[in-house]
Formats: sequence, structure tokens, C-alpha cells
Amino acid sequence: MNTLETTPAPAPPTGDHSGTFIAGEWLDRGPAFPSIDPATGDTYGHILASEVTDVDLAVAEARRAARQWSRTSPSERGAILGRWAGLIFQNQHRLAAIEARNVGKPLSAGLLNVQIAGSIMQYTAGGADKLTGATLPVRQPDYFGFTRREPHGVCAIVLPWNVPAVLCAANLAPALAAGNTVILKPSEVAPLAIHALVELGQEAGIPPGVVSVLTGLGAELGAALVSHPGVNHISFVGSVATGRLVMQAAAQNLTPLKVELGGKSPNIVFADADLDAAVPAIVRSITENAGQNCNAGSRLLVHADVADEVRTRVVDSMSALRIGAWHEDLDMGPLVSQLQHDRVSKLIDSALGDGVDLLLGGSRPEGHTVGHFLSPTVLSVSDRNAPIVSQEIFGPVLTVETFTDEADALDLANSTDFGLLACLWTNDVSRALRMSAEIGAGQISVNQFSDAGVIGLPFNMYKHSGFSSGNGYRGLYEFTREKAVAIKLLP
Ligand code: NAD
Repeated sequence: MNTLETTPAPAPPTGDHSGTFIAGEWLDRGPAFPSIDPATGDTYGHILASEVTDVDLAVAEARRAARQWSRTSPSERGAILGRWAGLIFQNQHRLAAIEARNVGKPLSAGLLNVQIAGSIMQYTAGGADKLTGATLPVRQPDYFGFTRREPHGVCAIVLPWNVPAVLCAANLAPALAAGNTVILKPSEVAPLAIHALVELGQEAGIPPGVVSVLTGLGAELGAALVSHPGVNHISFVGSVATGRLVMQAAAQNLTPLKVELGGKSPNIVFADADLDAAVPAIVRSITENAGQNCNAGSRLLVHADVADEVRTRVVDSMSALRIGAWHEDLDMGPLVSQLQHDRVSKLIDSALGDGVDLLLGGSRPEGHTVGHFLSPTVLSVSDRNAPIVSQEIFGPVLTVETFTDEADALDLANSTDFGLLACLWTNDVSRALRMSAEIGAGQISVNQFSDAGVIGLPFNMYKHSGFSSGNGYRGLYEFTREKAVAIKLLP
């Protein structure tokens, strides 16, 4: 008899939803576009898309609601966000299935993402009534000077499809805590987790108009939103190419913005590293979410003395990964769409040749004839100018290069336009600190890839990866502007 307890797979979530939420109502209209299951390529529902004219409606509603929401006491705003966080945890399994099926990630990865989203909401709820300005020193005693933090007003938040719940919470929660109203524009590729989160926000007591959702194509709907003169701040998360367009649109109205863009994060392995810890973390960093994470560890830079061993162990480990649909909950799922599958496959094919050798993968995994599956792929690169070591691939594709000493490792680490995260594997603390100072990246990890052990670590970025200090307490300040007040006291 099998005594193992098994958790029953959750019922498949529906792919049907309205994409437009304005004035506290989901609108039952708009052109339908399909929700496609990445594991099968089948349509499992339809989203009713927003029209470009909905941008005017959403902005008008958000402006109407802004005055009241900014005057709601910060403690009350925090309490609503706290209730919202509680509802996220109560509904975590349902939300996990929605995100997992829509993006194609394993169910437990969806659950982790939802739990992170809930934690961000909870953390930020506690910050709502702790935002303060400063009292300033004065030259004469009959003066008084202080600063106050004020909300921007209407914040547009434009998001990608890869980790929708986490990115939604990371931008929405601080914007609301600081007293802004928000118009969310999820990616048309996988918006369902964001729709579900916003429904829970209604249940938590978010007043009508404080949060709106517009779902549709970026080039039309997204462009109309970020160029609207009634928007007071833009948060954009997505690719460098779109980030440039958003910055150009923002320039027309001089709208302040923050942009969080792509990455090409290196794992840098020195000869003294603990390889038993490093290898599984390196593999996870490029196969989690099928490599479709902005901070994916897509470059492995390894010291020549341990290169053969590390390469062999990484290839062995990646070839043993179990691949399947979201509900099978294995190690890795498919890519999000046929478009993404074709794009990544083409990048691999065009990279192979002089100085780039295929060590693993590069094609569909055996037994997966439908869906957007791609095998974990490892490329050994001896040509440091090969484009594949500097392009963002956004798939389960790892390039491996070797270095000879610390200076050489630093040259390689700094050789791309991106500057999101760099991970150092070494037992030498002095080297770790020297490298941390010299690497051009907003986040440095040492002997671990993810930030799971640190609460409120800022998600910073350098160079073409963007500019933002999202996450953590300081992230709240990005959603405020500072007013300076100077007073002459009357006798
Ligand atoms: P994308 O740039 O294609 O789209 C992002 C969002 O912008 C979508 O909602 C899209 O509809 C919208 N959009 C498209 N054109 C627009 C326009 N002209 N004006 C306004 N909005 C427009 O990116 P994607 O393919 O959805 O996501 C993948 C990218 O996101 C990768 O480059 C990844 O590195 C990046 N990303 C960055 C972070 C980070 O925190 N730095 C996190 C996750 C993903």
C-alpha cells in the first residue's frame, strides 16, 4: 500500500476575465483575446481587452479618487493593505494556480511568488504610517523649516508577464501606502494573477477609483497610458527597448518615472568556492521560471582551475531536471508563449559556431511535442565578443566562460550593458568585498543567489538595467515627492 500522502492537484483555473476595472467595476465588454496554456498551446479562456478610450476614463476616475485617498489617514491605508495581505495568504493556493497556469511555471514556484507578493504587501502596510519628512536646522531662531512627503497623485504601473504577482505587489503596495491612486497595466501575455489580486483588494476595502486595471496591447494601450498628461508618475518594468519608448513618452509631459529593465547576471565562481553549494544555486538561477527572470543567472564565469569540474557538474544537473506542465509541479515549465519559444531558439541557433559550442539542450525536450517547452541549454563560449554573452535571452540558456584571475573576472563581469545582479562564489571575504565595490551592478550576492535571507533588501539596478530602489522601506519614498516649507515666526 502506498502510504505517501499526496496533495490533490488544484482544479485548473479559468482563463476568462474582464481586463478592465474602472471605478470599482469589472467591465463586461471589449475585444476578446485568448488565454493560452503554455504547456499545451491550447486556449483556456478569454480576456476582454480594454479600449484605448478607457485610458481617459481610468485617469479621470483615478484623479477623482486621489484627493480622498491621499487624505485617508496613513494608518487606515496601512490597515487596508494589511487586510489585503491577509487575503493573499488565505487565497494563496488559488492565486498560485492562476499564476502558474498563465505563465507556465510549476505550481510550487507560483505559490512562492504569491507568498512573496503577500509578504511585500504586509511589509509595506507597516510602512504606510512611518513615512516622515525632516525638521531642518535654522540660521535664526525665529525661523522654522521642515519637509513633508507627498504622493505624486496618479501613478501608472506598467508590468511584464514573468512574475506578475510579485511585481504588482512591489509597485502597487508602496504607491498606495504613500497615498497615490494607481492605474495598473499588466502584460497582455499573462495578466490573470493581477486581475485576481485586484479583486482581493476590493474585498480588503480599497475604495472605487483608487486602483484601476487596463489590459491590452502595450504598443497601443500602454503607450496611451504612459503619454497621458493626467498621469503624475510612471513605474515601468519590462525590456530595455520598451523602457526607452516609455522614457520618450514621459519626456513629452515631463512625467517623473522609474524603470526596471533587463539583466544578464553573472555567477562568478572562484577556485576556492564551495561547489556543493554553488552548483545547485547556479542551476536554479537559470532554470527557475524557465530562465524568464530579469535577474536570471544567465552567465557562468568560472576560474580556469575548476572550470572542467563546474561545467560537468552544471551540465549533469541541468540534464537531470524534470520538465512538465504547471500542475505536474516539476523542476521547470515551458516558455510563456510560442513567440518567446521561437525568439530564444533563434538566439541559440544563431549563436552556435566559432567560439560558441553547444554542451546541452538547444531544442525541444524529448516527449514534449506540444506547448512551448525548451530544454535547459548550456553553451561553452571562448569568444568573448560573441553577442550571446551580452544579449538578454530570457530563457533557460546558460553561457559558460572561464577567467584566470580576479582582474580578469572583473573585466568579464563588467563587460555587458546590464547591471542588475552579480553573484560571487568564494570563501575569501576580502576578495568578495573588493569585487562587490568594483562590479557595476545594483545588487551583489555572495555565496547565495537569491535575497531570501534578508528582509527589505532594495532591488537596485545600474546601467541599462534601469534605475529604481524598489522593495524595502526606501522603495516607499519613490512614490512620494518632497515639499520644503520655510516659515518666519511672527513676534
Ligand atoms: P516588454 O517590454 O515587452 O513589455 C512590458 C510591458 O510594457 C507590457 O505590459 C507591455 O504591454 C508594455 N508595453 C509594450 N510597449 C509599450 C509602449 N510602447 N508603451 C508602454 N507600454 C508598453 O517586456 P516583457 O516581454 O513583458 O517582459 C520581459 C522583460 O521584462 C525582460 O527584459 C525582463 O528582464 C524585464 N523585467 C525586468 C524586471 C526588473 O525588475 N528589472 C523584472 C521583471 C522583468
